Amino acid sequence: EKFKTGLTKTRDNFSSKVNDLVARYRKIDEDFFEELEEILIGADVGFDTVMDLIEQLKHEVKRRNTKDPAEVRDIITEKLVAIYQNGEETPNELNIQEEGLTVILFVGVNGVGKTTTIGKLAHKFKSEGKTVLLAAGDTFRAGAIEQLEVWGERTGVDVIKQGEGSDPAAVMYDAVRAAKSRNADILLCDTAGRLQNKVNLMKELEKVKRVIEREVPGAPHEVLIVLDATTGQNAMVQAKTFKEATDVSGIVLTKLDGTAKGGIVLAIRKELEIPVKFVGLGEKMDDLQQFDAEKYVYGLFS
Ligand code: GDP
Repeated sequence: EKFKTGLTKTRDNFSSKVNDLVARYRKIDEDFFEELEEILIGADVGFDTVMDLIEQLKHEVKRRNTKDPAEVRDIITEKLVAIYQNGEETPNELNIQEEGLTVILFVGVNGVGKTTTIGKLAHKFKSEGKTVLLAAGDTFRAGAIEQLEVWGERTGVDVIKQGEGSDPAAVMYDAVRAAKSRNADILLCDTAGRLQNKVNLMKELEKVKRVIEREVPGAPHEVLIVLDATTGQNAMVQAKTFKEATDVSGIVLTKLDGTAKGGIVLAIRKELEIPVKFVGLGEKMDDLQQFDAEKYVYGLFS
């Protein structure tokens, strides 16, 4: 349901156009594929992914001897899911420890929805009965700590912080210590999102990770990069930069409700080879959904 309502814009731009296309064509010819290609490109599915998909479609249409364009729509749906999954079950579960503390680090540039995502996940874990703590590791951006505190209050979760300008690694040290002494289940760590200086960012993330690793063996259990779906190719560039700076284990793609180009999920998965674990479908606490390629694609067409 969440996928359906949150994806209205993409449905209008993408699925409706595909539906319209299959309704207009009597037979499946080169023009049909060309129009389909345009629709897919227009939905940010990504050039390589589109080419791959069209190739597979042509092959499949020939193999099945499909004459009915409506049937092609079903094949498109199948193939979109298959392309996302790339022959394997793509993990969408977070690596949560059954016992002891799970530490999740969030990276991403300012404005992508990192704080909101941390808040939403804090809410999710809390409603599952877990003890959650937040670490205000973005000590660089003015207002970042306060903003995290707002989410802390909203969700009833404590925030471990120091002053603006303090060392993020010191904040993490405090946070991990606090989480351990309180027997917390989940520690969600914000980090600074400045990308202007990649070397500095890399050093900072390395230092933060080192502190966490030292205090909790095996941690951080997830490093999630938060990307804004409405920024298209920019999101891709950001992800590549962070991937070079640190080991990213998963993607949270936010603001899918705000874009007509939800095909970006497929492009991101294919180009980055990092699984999309959650998607943001709105600004509210509940508007976060675990990503599922099948539900997502079928949601677009249902
Ligand atoms: P940060 O700078 O990365 O921490 O970004 P914020 O968490 O402050 O989010 C920036 C803006 O995006 C805020 O106005 C959020 O309400 C909004 N936002 C975050 N996630 C979503 C989402 O999934 N959908 C929509 N529509 N807005 C979102």
